[in-house]
Amino acid sequence: YDIQPFSFREMLLESIESVQLKSERHAIILEKADDVDFSGDRLRLEQVMNNILTNAVKYSPEATRVVVNATVQDHGIVVSVQDFGIGIAREHIEHLFGRYYRVDNTAMRFEGLGLGLYISSEIIKRHNGTLWLESAEGEGSTFFFRLPLQTNEEDRITESEGYYNDRSITIEHNV
Ligand code: ATP
Ligand code: MG
Repeated sequence: YDIQPFSFREMLLESIESVQLKSERHAIILEKADDVDFSGDRLRLEQVMNNILTNAVKYSPEATRVVVNATVQDHGIVVSVQDFGIGIAREHIEHLFGRYYRVDNTAMRFEGLGLGLYISSEIIKRHNGTLWLESAEGEGSTFFFRLPLQTNEEDRITESEGYYNDRSITIEHNV
């Protein structure tokens, strides 16, 4: 692992941009991205984002949104990636981060090895982080990960308004 300080927000923007380029029929929206000068393996964390974003696109119908948030809270940075796709039934959730695990219904229709989430969970673990999800079948899924921050990182947080790309659709905020 190559641990270096980097702008967390720039890493997110880069991964969103690269997945968006391959996903013409989805709008990936970065709703909020607190920035922090984070110490970690930038390339591998970008790989985690790419895996989760690619899944969000792959397992959701065309013209739906994928919504990303990154917020600093309780000495950590928490990232969420929400999709409005096929969702995951409860009985599969505990197996999802295992090697080569795929949900049968989806394995039929989409190509994949069932390694993306396994690799992602290993990378998050190596950063002393956690990875989890919430999902409802037929409604969608939200994948979360949390990476702990060192105190000096927290001094350099800047709040951000988010970023809407040209495919963005208006986001409803609950009042
Ligand atoms: P690859 O190794 O190419 O990533 P994969 O996408 O099948 O293949 P994972 O990314 O590890 O493998 O995901 C494992 C399984 O979890 C998927 O096959 C799919 O069944 C389910 N899954 C993952 N993300 C989502 C999602 N956002 N919505 C619904 N199902 C998902
Ligand atoms: Mg995958």
